[in-house]
Amino acid sequence: MNTAGFIHSVETFGTVDGPGTRYVVFLQGCPLRCKFCHNRDTWNRAQGKKVTVRELLLEFNEYQEFYRRTGGGMTASGGEPLMQAGFVSELFHGVKNSGLNTALDTSGYASEREIDSLLEVTDLVLLGLKAVDSQEHKELTGVSNEKIMAFIRHLREVQKPVWLRYVLLPGINDDFNHADRLADFVRSFTNIERLELLGYHKLGAAKWELCGDEDPLKHISPPDQNQVELFRRRLNDLGIKKIY
Ligand code: SF4
Repeated sequence: MNTAGFIHSVETFGTVDGPGTRYVVFLQGCPLRCKFCHNRDTWNRAQGKKVTVRELLLEFNEYQEFYRRTGGGMTASGGEPLMQAGFVSELFHGVKNSGLNTALDTSGYASEREIDSLLEVTDLVLLGLKAVDSQEHKELTGVSNEKIMAFIRHLREVQKPVWLRYVLLPGINDDFNHADRLADFVRSFTNIERLELLGYHKLGAAKWELCGDEDPLKHISPPDQNQVELFRRRLNDLGIKKIY
């Protein structure tokens, strides 16, 4: 309980990161460098706030009954929570002792050996897949996706439920070729319970400037509803029905 971790912030009434209403912990530190990152200020772990498992669980417990009534619980997000797998694992142990739901919001960039004990106390993985193609993944995030694919295959082996998240970037990954490859990918994983299509947005653009960087996608506009709908319909036609 005295184990310490580095966090960016917490949200006490999150409604978009897993079932029900949730306590969302944004961990500080991330090994990826996504061009479309809307949490640019979470990359450097040393800039995080140091907190203990005990401190977070104390606050979580204040709202526990509310999370219980809505079928919610705790989500570890980031940044990349797998960079602090031991800390998150202890947190989730506390949540499971209360009988509530735990969700891991991750890019999947981790060695499977490091995270097995964390997965034992994780009910759901929200996996943000940046690209099916490894070269494209590298161009968008700075790293290839081999490690991530191994992680996803491991989730399939242990039949861990996954909600897959995919950010639509106009002119980059929103054509039918990308939809077809994504559909093939989703169909090959029986543990993927739903696909969440997220339109790229500009809400994090100011954070790039605050961190002294130029927004690498400043020339890209968010997709309009029609673009998202076309992509969704293509996936539907290819047999992917549970799209949110
Ligand atoms: S994995 Fe998430 S936090 Fe990390 S760079 Fe990508 S979008 Fe940002």
